[in-house]
Amino acid sequence: MKLTVVGCSGSFPSAESACSSYLVEADGFRLLLDMGNGALGELQRHCGLYDLDAIFLSHLHADHCIDMLAYFVARYYRYDGGRCAPIPVYGPEGTEQRLTTAYADTPSASSMSEVFDFHTVKPGMSEIGPFTVHTELLRHPVEAYGIRIEHGGRSLTYSGDTGVTEALDELARDTDLFLCEAAFTHGKENIPDLHLNGREAGETAARAGARRLVLTHIPPWTDPQVNLADARAVYQGPVELAAPGMTYEI
Ligand SMILES: [Zn+2]
Ligand SMILES: [Zn+2]
Repeated sequence: MKLTVVGCSGSFPSAESACSSYLVEADGFRLLLDMGNGALGELQRHCGLYDLDAIFLSHLHADHCIDMLAYFVARYYRYDGGRCAPIPVYGPEGTEQRLTTAYADTPSASSMSEVFDFHTVKPGMSEIGPFTVHTELLRHPVEAYGIRIEHGGRSLTYSGDTGVTEALDELARDTDLFLCEAAFTHGKENIPDLHLNGREAGETAARAGARRLVLTHIPPWTDPQVNLADARAVYQGPVELAAPGMTYEI
């Protein structure tokens, strides 16, 4: 599996990065995890506009899904070749309606479904292309999923947005690469069931036995070096900060 960080800024884009979006590739199949603010532009640095095979939306906060509106335009009104065939979009209950409402004036109520084939995510195992995926409901103010992706005996686990929860410990159990949010700073923000801080991300990785930790979703107003140090203090494995354009062979 190859993971490419398309965007990793938390909550809103920074000057350096779009919001959450990660490209996962294997066997020529391209799965995009989340499509936050600015992600569609960055994505085109890494693959063709129409080369995605499936999209997974962890939850419906704007910093994880709002560029789906721009992608709708690109697929629905494609200049060369006509309207795109629908690709699978996996998201929480109500994803199609939310995107349609946010767009405000789609040509018809079913326009989104002409270019996106919506599937409702539930906790459990399933398959997306060549990947075996396991989704778990985590702790966030809205329905939000973490996802574990397995291929060829290797695994990638992405937290999406969540507070501390055993469900994430289990999802990331012995995972090869744990892409974990660390939006908060230890000792500064303490709001349960919203986000992890660097220390909590490190503790989660340690409890799970994750082999490698990549911290992501750090907002522009947060010092990433503090969160990195906090994670390193409690987790003995390799830890680093996600950055746009970074790739990992898993
Ligand atoms: Zn977020
Ligand atoms: Zn969120």
